[in-house]
Amino acid sequence: MKLLEECKQAERIGISGHIRPDGDCVGSCMGLYLYLKKVRPDADIRVFLEKPADIFRCIRGVEEINSDFGEQEAFDVFFCLDTAADRLGGAEEYFHAAAKKINIDHHVSNSGCGDVNYVIPEASSTSELIYNLIDGEELDGEIAKALYIGIIHDTGVFQYSNTSPETLQAAARLISFGFDFSRLIEETFYEKTYLQTQILGRALLESIRFMDGKCVVSVLDKKTMEFYGASSQDLEGIVSQLRSIKGVECAVFMYQTGVLEYKVSMRSGGRINVSRIASYFGGGGHVRAAGCTMNGTSHDVINNLSLHIEKQFIEEQDT
Ligand code: 5GP
Ligand code: MN
Repeated sequence: MKLLEECKQAERIGISGHIRPDGDCVGSCMGLYLYLKKVRPDADIRVFLEKPADIFRCIRGVEEINSDFGEQEAFDVFFCLDTAADRLGGAEEYFHAAAKKINIDHHVSNSGCGDVNYVIPEASSTSELIYNLIDGEELDGEIAKALYIGIIHDTGVFQYSNTSPETLQAAARLISFGFDFSRLIEETFYEKTYLQTQILGRALLESIRFMDGKCVVSVLDKKTMEFYGASSQDLEGIVSQLRSIKGVECAVFMYQTGVLEYKVSMRSGGRINVSRIASYFGGGGHVRAAGCTMNGTSHDVINNLSLHIEKQFIEEQDT
């Protein structure tokens, strides 16, 4: 795909990513936004996202993000990043109304929802894909910083198995612009507020292991979240911490989003394909990191999920 060719004639260009935007979603949207503003100064370019967490304020232009999703004139080109259209939230209608729809993503569960699709499941992150698509000559420190944040968030600071030689080559070029990457990693990835640390502690304390310690689950109900004053943004990282427990192959973390409704996050060490399970329940993601929304009591949700996890352990034994 040739990025600039695809939006050559476009006067109105829109960009959006998934609901509850994470580092890769914000980084890829802002990296593309800053780049297009630079190379297409004549075009009307807008970026739409739910309000990103405060840690992303260090990215140039985040205050220009539109989060109100009011009525919009149709776009000539609309980019759907880091997801398929069904998780664009308020921007989904802009995408469908656009003359040309472009989907750039790295989720294995996404079969491509645009007129032009660039979906590469092997890529570490959508930010790495944006890095590959933009003209390297036009890259600058602010675009580099946005894309770097996206890459470190989706690779767990180059720890996860989605990190490839190409990812590190991209990162090498990005840090050559001289921003304080060490501080960015600390302040956007590792640093947690006291509230976030307390709720992490609570989730770990109340976790329960099952299947001989190969799986672990933790649930936060609405009452507990309200007690701490926690929002979904405060829960990032809990599920990876659960996955780090020795012997755990599959970790499940869920928090209540409504009456008999839970947002589920899953992480796997590689033996279990959590994207398959999440997709079965209407969500999606990657082999080792996926999510979905499920209905029922927390016990119903765990029972339904564990049937699928167990099925995969049995299939593994049979092969
Ligand atoms: P997390 O557990 O951090 O929310 O998400 C893990 C991965 O699964 C991310 O790549 C995220 O985009 C994806 N994911 C999480 N929830 C959903 C969902 O409800 N639907 C889809 N399609 N993907 C999800
Ligand atoms: Mn991503």
